[in-house]
Amino acid sequence: MPLNKDQLGALVDFVDAHVQAAGCDHTRRFTERWATGQQVLMDRLAEGLDEYGGYCDCEVVMNCDPEQVLGP
Ligand SMILES: [Zn+2]
Repeated sequence: MPLNKDQLGALVDFVDAHVQAAGCDHTRRFTERWATGQQVLMDRLAEGLDEYGGYCDCEVVMNCDPEQVLGP
């Protein structure tokens, strides 16, 4: 996972808000939007999210909680 805990928390919050407003289209479109805004490389981030089952935006929200991924 190429993000620290603060970054991952920010990502999950961002994606959660957008998924609740617009729904998940089974891609990581909001994850990608956040990564672009933060100048985080999507290729590296995608690998990290895959590892934890975050294959689309709603799964990023469900499976990539910072406490679970990076520990307390
Ligand atoms: Zn989804």
